[in-house]
Amino acid sequence: MLRIKRVPTVVSNYQKDEAEEVAPRAGCGRNCLNECCYEGAKIPLYAFKKLNKISKGLCCEYENTAPPFAFLDSLLLGEWEDRMQRGLFRYDVTACETKVIPGKYGFIAQLNEGRHLKKRPTEFRVDKVLQPFDGNKFNFTKVGQEEILFRFEANENGNTLLIPNAPLDVENSPSMVAINVSPIEYGHVLLIPRIFERLPQRIDRESFLLALHMAAEAGNTYFRLGYNSLGAFATINHLHFQAYYLAVPFPIEKAPTKKTISLNDEVIVSELLKYPVRGLVFEGENTLQALSNAVSDACICLQENNIPYNVLIADCGQRIFLLPQCYAEKQALGEVSAELLDTQVNPAVWEISGHMVLKRKKDYDEASEENAWRLLVEVSLSEERFQEVCALIFEVLDTVDVEGSPSVAKEHSDACLEEVEARNNASQPLQVTGTWECLV
Ligand SMILES: [Zn+2]
Repeated sequence: MLRIKRVPTVVSNYQKDEAEEVAPRAGCGRNCLNECCYEGAKIPLYAFKKLNKISKGLCCEYENTAPPFAFLDSLLLGEWEDRMQRGLFRYDVTACETKVIPGKYGFIAQLNEGRHLKKRPTEFRVDKVLQPFDGNKFNFTKVGQEEILFRFEANENGNTLLIPNAPLDVENSPSMVAINVSPIEYGHVLLIPRIFERLPQRIDRESFLLALHMAAEAGNTYFRLGYNSLGAFATINHLHFQAYYLAVPFPIEKAPTKKTISLNDEVIVSELLKYPVRGLVFEGENTLQALSNAVSDACICLQENNIPYNVLIADCGQRIFLLPQCYAEKQALGEVSAELLDTQVNPAVWEISGHMVLKRKKDYDEASEENAWRLLVEVSLSEERFQEVCALIFEVLDTVDVEGSPSVAKEHSDACLEEVEARNNASQPLQVTGTWECLV
């Protein structure tokens, strides 16, 4: 069993060390989301109109009508600022120093000394991407109701609407948007799909589509969602996405790509080039649903093969970066240099995308593109392993019914051609060979 020690990020004011955890009882006094406290609870409900069509060049399409106004943006930020006024955050993120590091990519460095304070290191098992939900550990049903901003759901038959004082409606699997009390940027929130179903941290099609809808609904290219699997620096095994606003492009968004396959003319899959972390980029040509299915099936494939990964949802849900990684595994095996470990930087989705959250003044002062690159290179799979993983993913995508009819990989770049040929020629499904497995 591989484990690493790290200081867990405190995402809720009710997240205590395990030992301090008390069993919930009637009227537990925390105003939480469990049976003890949810009687009569009211939480705003944001029900979005299900727009499936992707319109290039425009973030979200409101079928001949302008969006009501930046509806989700204003609700989210208004509620978020209200929680800031109420002092619910552990520190003032707007006071954290941030700079764009000179260089070709424009890595962003933030000095965030408050994030890891007042918490002792905890052991995390990092060699299992799928772990069962454990109700005794911290999960989002234990947050205070004041940390919840609103419910976020599709309005199956109608237009976007907001009901300010909607009942909590535990029976109907509400999805929630909550603050992260350790924000790394303005408007940092968590999206918790079907919170009362107590789902472990694992991607499924329905939840991923909800995250894409949130990105599309926000309609703001500076608002991105991210996902960390277990073994890739998620610390809470309760299904959640993170999201925040950052008003500059992420370096990963500027990296060149090479088109690898096209799925039924619905989704283009490209390989990320000239970036320290190897990854795939998924772009929708037609519908959010097709894009969502392709990415979620790729994620499910990684999960089932026990390969840790991170996901960045950019461009209002139209472009998605999928990054398998192996940093925590290397860390557990003692293969990461002391110099890198000393920085205590956990390369999760934001760092991989180029937003480096630094904990020491020294690292902030000395931040350079070279240093960011050096860390991220350690996060990436090797070229050989990455191509093996791509082959696993493409195997799954080839057989996936993207939109009602069988999809066929139509185009292959040179990079993946060999794998594809090997697969086509093999009578057996392609297996990952060798002893080097990224198990974290
Ligand atoms: Zn309670």
